[in-house]
Amino acid sequence: MRILITGAAGFLGSHLCERFIDEGHYVIGMDNFVTGNIDNLTCLAGNPKFLFIRHDVANFIFVPGEIDAVLHFASPASPNPASPYGYTNLPIQTMKAGALGTHNTLGVARSHNARYLLASTSEIYGDPLEHPQTESYWGHVDPIGVRSVYDEAKRFAEALTMAYHRYHGINTRIARIFNTFGPRMHLDDGRVVPNFIQQALRSEALTIYGDGSQTRSFCYVSDLVEGIYRLLLSEEHNPVNIGNPNEIAILELAETINKMIGNQAEVILKPASRLGDDPQRRRPDITRAKEILGWEPTIPLEEGLKRTIPYFQQKLGLV
Ligand code: NAD
Ligand code: UDP
Repeated sequence: MRILITGAAGFLGSHLCERFIDEGHYVIGMDNFVTGNIDNLTCLAGNPKFLFIRHDVANFIFVPGEIDAVLHFASPASPNPASPYGYTNLPIQTMKAGALGTHNTLGVARSHNARYLLASTSEIYGDPLEHPQTESYWGHVDPIGVRSVYDEAKRFAEALTMAYHRYHGINTRIARIFNTFGPRMHLDDGRVVPNFIQQALRSEALTIYGDGSQTRSFCYVSDLVEGIYRLLLSEEHNPVNIGNPNEIAILELAETINKMIGNQAEVILKPASRLGDDPQRRRPDITRAKEILGWEPTIPLEEGLKRTIPYFQQKLGLV
């Protein structure tokens, strides 16, 4: 296949480009570097199966040659207002990537008769009242909250994707991605795993927003990539949760990372209001992914952290 991947210079996008090329496909990566980094694509420089186009997906997209598949991953993804890459600091760009970017990439899929995969998110469930979250749950989202620029753009993106599927017959898929981590997350990304690992490596106190009782369920990047790969090859048009159901409190995550790195510093509790409508619990029900894709994560949290810590050690010049 000839595949267009937007958000190619980002964390997930760069791993996906690599995976699809490894499988023998030709990849056109697109990014405008708003939160991504060209260094993430160093391993593909000069690869004859890879073409990079610098472009903002909010503007009309022209891709030379035939396209067999489109994966739309371009969007800021960190909620942290303390990060320059947090979507609360990029609110209009985030809404445009989710809304106009989805419209433009669906347009590419339509004009090439290509299959399409939207990177949606567990954030469409908001601060969920149902636990764990199944795909049939409609969510609990504040339409004007701090996170709404991301949540509502992704909800619009899902609705538009289904409209193109139902009205134009486009061969679409929707991945509802839960918290994923691994090498190539930006040093200043602001999400919890890169923050905690860097703080621990610097022997600093880990910053916990709130009392740390809020939970997340962390998926290692190679598992996520496998799930996305299988979903693209499937014929499933309804949303599928892709994530690791192993739920952990943020305080316990901090203790785990401190223990693995040998950091003696205490944790610091910071006000939860920092992140506005911070979801209190999050855990995917992955029954559908198991049944439809034969997929489930294989990398436990500590193993994933073991593979991620050396990346940050290297980026911080500690090895
Ligand atoms: P990231 O910030 O590392 O990557 C996003 C990439 O998109 C960046 O390279 C950025 O420059 C690019 N981009 C943003 N707006 C763009 C635009 N208008 N035009 C072109 N490029 C643009 O984040 P990530 O974690 O790799 O997330 C990738 C996708 O996966 C996002 O759509 C995000 O919503 C989704 N997702 C990620 C997670 C996760 O835990 N990593 C969870 C749920 C959903
Ligand atoms: N968090 C934290 N300290 C940090 C960064 C994040 O305690 O330095 C918390 C955050 O409040 C949230 C959880 O960790 O409850 C996960 O945050 P992240 O930004 O990784 O992503 P989210 O799942 O909220 O989109």
